[in-house]
Amino acid sequence: MFQYVRVTQRTVSTYCRICEPLCGMIATVEDGRLISLRPDDEHPLSQGYACPKGLAFPEVQHDPDRVLHPLRRVAGGALGEFEQVSWDEALDDIAVRLRALLDTHGGGTVGQFFGNPVGFNITGTLWAGALMTALGTGHQYSVGSQDINSRYVASKLLYGSISQVPFPDLRGTDLLLVLGANPLVSRASGVRAPRVKEHLSAIVAGGGRVVVVDPRRSETAKAFEHVSIEPDGDAFLLASLIQVVAEEGLVDQEAIDRQSVGAETLLAAVAPFTPEATVARTGIDPDVVRSLARDLAAAPRAAVYGRTGTCLGEHATLVSVLIDALALLTGNLDREGGVLLGQAVVPFEETAEKAGRLGYDTRRSRIGGFPDVMDTWPAAIMADEITTPGEGQLRALFVLAGNPVLSSVDGPGLAAALEQLDLMVALDLYVNETNRHADYVLPATTWLEREDVPFAIVASSPWPHVQHTPAVLEPAGEARAEWEVFDEIARRAGISLFLPSWAAAVTRPLRTLARRAGVRVTPWTLVDLLLRTGPHGDRFGLRRGGLSLKRLRAERHGVMLPPARGGRLAEVVRHPHGKVDLAPAQLAAEWDRLRSALEVEADPAYPLRMIGLREMRSQNSWMHNSPTLMKGRNRRHAARIHPEDAAQAGVADGDAVRLTSAVGAIETTALLTDEVRRGTIACPHGWGHAAGWTVANAAGGANTNELASARVEDVEFLAGMARLNGIPVRLESAVGAVG
Ligand code: SF4
Repeated sequence: MFQYVRVTQRTVSTYCRICEPLCGMIATVEDGRLISLRPDDEHPLSQGYACPKGLAFPEVQHDPDRVLHPLRRVAGGALGEFEQVSWDEALDDIAVRLRALLDTHGGGTVGQFFGNPVGFNITGTLWAGALMTALGTGHQYSVGSQDINSRYVASKLLYGSISQVPFPDLRGTDLLLVLGANPLVSRASGVRAPRVKEHLSAIVAGGGRVVVVDPRRSETAKAFEHVSIEPDGDAFLLASLIQVVAEEGLVDQEAIDRQSVGAETLLAAVAPFTPEATVARTGIDPDVVRSLARDLAAAPRAAVYGRTGTCLGEHATLVSVLIDALALLTGNLDREGGVLLGQAVVPFEETAEKAGRLGYDTRRSRIGGFPDVMDTWPAAIMADEITTPGEGQLRALFVLAGNPVLSSVDGPGLAAALEQLDLMVALDLYVNETNRHADYVLPATTWLEREDVPFAIVASSPWPHVQHTPAVLEPAGEARAEWEVFDEIARRAGISLFLPSWAAAVTRPLRTLARRAGVRVTPWTLVDLLLRTGPHGDRFGLRRGGLSLKRLRAERHGVMLPPARGGRLAEVVRHPHGKVDLAPAQLAAEWDRLRSALEVEADPAYPLRMIGLREMRSQNSWMHNSPTLMKGRNRRHAARIHPEDAAQAGVADGDAVRLTSAVGAIETTALLTDEVRRGTIACPHGWGHAAGWTVANAAGGANTNELASARVEDVEFLAGMARLNGIPVRLESAVGAVG
């Protein structure tokens, strides 16, 4: 006797939220369970493209190691030993302990750290921020100080607008200069372009050039023109390019006069940085530098683009300033085919900034006196903020989708410091190397389990596009949307989770109406308001065809917005003089440091320099538990070493090697390749797992950030950037094979 079971299957259009392209995806769901993810052929930007990470995401969704219930650390148990508890038990205890802390020590002793995935979770971002605002704390830390904060600070100094991320116009430039980025693998960051390889190839097909400056012959460098540079040599190269353009009278004086102030000061600052003077730091033949400078100046349209590699060096903020300065001086800033300035779609960062929030240097940290960058301090000082007694000592920490023990510097020091906290609560998909030190690990949603719209990322694209997605799946197990968890903790702890003042002001009418109607105010109240009042909004019916949440919810593949254009500088610049400041006072000390660095000799104890790299099947520290992504050679962490450097150290391909810096040492596997220039070692970050993941733990590898310094004097001051690019190291053979 057969029994027929009715199976319900549906497909849902959504978009991937692992990285910045936000590729369109079609999810197939059967009886509430995800069956597959495939690229969305009809998506206007990704047009049927998705990378291996996005396609492997069902393995994260269904991962048996995933945290699906609230976990409480077992009292007196081993590190990482948790027991399942109910949501009520967890939330009540967290609220009671938080309340006690607030009453005894004040809200300024509570903090949060948020990781990269938070940038793809608008509701979690808004409500975590609302809780921190309610507490009145300065203790906010993020992955930004290991990633992009130097870019933000450069924008603050240049434009007076911290959330602005200028991007190259990939639609038709004649010369694209790429520094410290490998878009063929990273799929581009700081510019949204899902089919980036095609766009770069189209530049060449149209008679243009793509020149990639990198110490490693990266995948992008192999596909286009490569200029090999010494690790962390970008500041010197950019200064030399500007020096040549100025010396040879190739600057666009009309653009300089129209767009900027401070050009004379800048040109005086670069004067000592001739290509001959910088050759020891760039490793680039002065003739090549001169030729590149002339080509940039002569190109009808040229764009200069730098990303992660340029954001993590010793002079990180200055490098980002020089990238935009070079574009401006050659007449390529704020023009099509050059470098463009973006326009946010859900402009909460801009709105906050205009209201005096999410700014720069509004307060200084206790440790090191670092300026805040969009309300965050450098993650490098977090351990010392926990362990240093005194007023404002960090005593409780919320960690949202973050793993700073692997992603920040001095992971072992931070891990030890976390044990001293009075309360640590994490919301995450996994028990990771950081939150295994927590009192509670609460089950968070995957991006398939929550409604979303993208925010900051969509502004930086030649093809602005915004897409709403419904939650594709019900949260697995007992997972809950992060914003609801923050809402509930606040309620139980008796904290009035008021919105930030800027948000409170703009939402007041709606909140009043909602209260009268008995409707709960959620992050979506705010998102809708920002959408409707934003640059593309419907202005509550005053602008036909404008954006609203209702409209986005009805558009399956999102909405294409008017193409990015030039001529937006006046809207973007917030300096009183209305122009780009090429010589902000904050950079004076940086120029001194750069001039001094011309003379610095390499320390013979650490003769090599380590840089990072992105692998196609890896995403920071959180996707190493996918069996598909960890297949074959991807399963092993390796240091790319030039064969001659390896021979000098007595190292053969596949050997176990030890890398030692002034602050730490790691062991990994040698991968000999002349991809890297002599003197350079390239290692991916985010490895060295030892927590609640089966596949990732088994993969071994090392946490390269243990080689980076957390000492205050080693952290780039202006943006609090950890120095992760160009770390001086020594290479030695290690006994026995790794893995
Ligand atoms: S490039 Fe890959 S990981 Fe990034 S959004 Fe697209 S599919 Fe997702």
